[in-house]
Amino acid sequence: MKNNKLGFSTRAIHAGTNPDKETGAVITPIYATSTYIQDTPGQHRGYEYSRTGNPTRSRLEDKLADLEGGRFGTAYASGMASINTILNLLSAGDHVITGTDVYGGTHRIFTQVFEQYNLEFTFVDTTDHSRVNKSFRPETKLLWIESPTNPLLQINDIAGLAEIAYENDALLAVDNTFATPYLQRPLEMGADIVSHSLTKYLGGHSDAVGGALVTDDEELGERLAFYQNSVGATPGPHESFLFLRGIKTLPVRMDKHCRNAGEITDWLDEHPLVKRVYYPGLKSHPGHELASKQMAGFGGMVSFELDASLEATAKMCSSTRIFLLAESLGGIESLIEQPATMTHASIPREERLAAGLNDGLVRLSVGIEDHEDLIQDLDQAISAAVE
Ligand SMILES: *Cc1c(COP(=O)(O)O)cnc(C)c1O
Repeated sequence: MKNNKLGFSTRAIHAGTNPDKETGAVITPIYATSTYIQDTPGQHRGYEYSRTGNPTRSRLEDKLADLEGGRFGTAYASGMASINTILNLLSAGDHVITGTDVYGGTHRIFTQVFEQYNLEFTFVDTTDHSRVNKSFRPETKLLWIESPTNPLLQINDIAGLAEIAYENDALLAVDNTFATPYLQRPLEMGADIVSHSLTKYLGGHSDAVGGALVTDDEELGERLAFYQNSVGATPGPHESFLFLRGIKTLPVRMDKHCRNAGEITDWLDEHPLVKRVYYPGLKSHPGHELASKQMAGFGGMVSFELDASLEATAKMCSSTRIFLLAESLGGIESLIEQPATMTHASIPREERLAAGLNDGLVRLSVGIEDHEDLIQDLDQAISAAVE
């Protein structure tokens, strides 16, 4: 089923997935097969080898493409494998502009993997368009952004940056992991490629690792599929099945993530020991207006700065009973982490502080439990830490 006139929730359930032709199975089967019979040599029925294509994975790729509003989807073994595939489009000597507040793994693959192949990366504050404009060179081929960013939840103007990239003959790629296509569709705002870690909200249940790319450009779609097959970092049919299942409930989960995050930020904002709350849904957030324009909701990620030392903040993060102390995000269960000692610990302290990642910073992935319980849990953890 493919009909863009249907609503997002209907498409989340039905797009790309028709009942199985042979058996009538309503749910896409897990096609656990590596190879496919050919009728005569070279005459196959659409599938020849499962690295190249697998029916369970194809259904996932079609569903994701439909939801992002593009025609060409490719799925990967992880979000990092999807990012790697975008970089496969570039050649030695090419230049990439990206944000200062990008996902740590993205920073690592740029600087520690691809710089050795003579790709160059410039990190700038992508909310400052004149800085972005000045960073372009003749050899700039790619502008890479996230929105909201991690962990300070800055909002990037996707349509504005798409225009800048277009004027400079560069591609705009958007990592849409934090927002998901339910809240934000970068292709509709002019982006060329959308990247996802399916591990997070799209899977939604913290039980599988995967990634995906979507584009509406046929030539790009073909090149991405070429690298997907050539490199071979593809998800298996079991993971593809889990992502198909997760995506069907994305709209109801995201609504609850957003509602819970809103309740929690309103409460944190009033708390005497909380210095600052980072959430695009707050009117005081510098990206609030832009987020209201380009997103259908503000998401489930919340950061805040506790008026406390590194040690007291670490104690707070260890004192929650419902929020689980763990990296990652986007699952139904709430998680808490301290960027300074966990996700962003590899950044030297001076550099980390300069980027606004203070010792008291706490990042929450707000789950879909009862918000009253989550607030009570944070309240007792903050009290326990400052006693
Ligand atoms: C987790 C994440 C990634 C990497 O995805 P994996 O599935 O862990 O490889 C990339 N970008 C963002 C924004 C992420 O949160």
